[in-house]
Amino acid sequence: MHVVGEPSFRESVDLMFNRATALMDMGPGLKQKIQVCNSTYTVRFGVRLRGKIETFTGYRSVHSEHMEPVKGGIRYALSVNQDEVEALAALMTYKCALVETPFGGSKGGLCIDPRAWEPHELEAITRRFAYELIKRDLIHPAQNVPAPDMGTGEREMAWIVDQYRRMNTSDINASACVTGKPPHAGGIQGRVEATGRGVQYALQEFFRHEEDKAAAKLSGGLDGKKIIVQGLGNVGYHAAKFLSEEDGAKITAVIEYNGAIIDDTGIDIEDLKQWILKTGSIKDYPKGSYVADGAPVLEKECDILIPAAMEGVINLGNAARIQANLIIEAANGPVTFGADEILRRKGVVIIPDMYANAGGVTVSYFEWVKNLSHIRFGRMQRRAEEARHVLLVNELEKLSADKGLGWTMSPNFKEKYLRGAGELELVRSGLDDTMRTAYQAMREVWHGRGDVEDLRVAAYIVSISRVAATYQSKGL
Ligand code: GLU
Repeated sequence: MHVVGEPSFRESVDLMFNRATALMDMGPGLKQKIQVCNSTYTVRFGVRLRGKIETFTGYRSVHSEHMEPVKGGIRYALSVNQDEVEALAALMTYKCALVETPFGGSKGGLCIDPRAWEPHELEAITRRFAYELIKRDLIHPAQNVPAPDMGTGEREMAWIVDQYRRMNTSDINASACVTGKPPHAGGIQGRVEATGRGVQYALQEFFRHEEDKAAAKLSGGLDGKKIIVQGLGNVGYHAAKFLSEEDGAKITAVIEYNGAIIDDTGIDIEDLKQWILKTGSIKDYPKGSYVADGAPVLEKECDILIPAAMEGVINLGNAARIQANLIIEAANGPVTFGADEILRRKGVVIIPDMYANAGGVTVSYFEWVKNLSHIRFGRMQRRAEEARHVLLVNELEKLSADKGLGWTMSPNFKEKYLRGAGELELVRSGLDDTMRTAYQAMREVWHGRGDVEDLRVAAYIVSISRVAATYQSKGL
């Protein structure tokens, strides 16, 4: 989405970067080195489909190689273009630095409408695109590790890893060439939900800080908060589901590309998602009220607005009418540079994309480590942990019996306490810790320096300082 008179997505990211570096003590040479996109590879390839040759255009952009491998998803959409892929690659650099995943930033994209092709056709297209990238080490466990993004998921990642294996039959680390794979193909539990889960953890952390809530004119917990979500894809669906089912928030509107459902009493996200899966659309959903024009719904009154669809949706055209006081950017780049300025003037708090949606790459990092270590997290220690817990519980019960104290543990406690952590628990714990730690780093800069107005600039300052430190220690 691009409103006339606004900078492009990549320019918008550059302008945000400049706002941060203006407050940093950094030479222009280093600033320039960090800001520029190192390279963008464009490939045009043909695939024989439905009796004729179809030509596709794809990109893989590498923004920064200060750490390798570089990391970032592959997007399938008709709107993919070089400017967008480069903006997204830059965001990956800052995102990885902010959440301390040891990667540089990259992104890929293929200009395609994935809904226009049958699965076997998509497989042929994906394998051919992957072949072109693998051939040039733009997919490689040590150099460049893609993941899902808009329009791609586990299925595409499984095709990519298989393609890599066919071309590198003796690479023992082949499964680490891509993340977001299905569990049976080397994936990790909790990766599909990771970005949405990260949005939930980010909001939980935000709500732990009175000062931050006050800045967004909010009080109390997430329970009962009115939330509007744009986009019920992987990220929006999981975020909305967890926030409503686990934190008691009320999803009062869901906006999709072809309309919105509004229900002030709270939407049952799982029910709505099932409806969409069954009928293909949000339209005709029997509960709540349907409006065909979703755009004005972004401007409705709510406590928290979650844009989880795509870039540029909050722009110069609608920013002044946004009523939410807290926006959490589950998508990459949903608020343009101009809109960001308007919203800041209005006192709206924005939890920026590079933090808010970093749950995906965080769990990708866990998956990559799992693949390189060739063992599932928790496999060695789980039963040992359980055995120690059993010892303690038995001892307590024995003491109680010996002394005639009559203590009994609630069965729920006992069952929960005894269970050793498996892969999913460990992934969630690692993700929660990552989101809390990164938030702390951001808020220290936000509140600690006196010259930082917002969380976005704070996030950029934290990330850019880390990238700069890596360059400096390399002697660059
Ligand atoms: N595409 C996701 C993002 O924008 C995930 C990237 C990854 O896991 O490498 O962060």
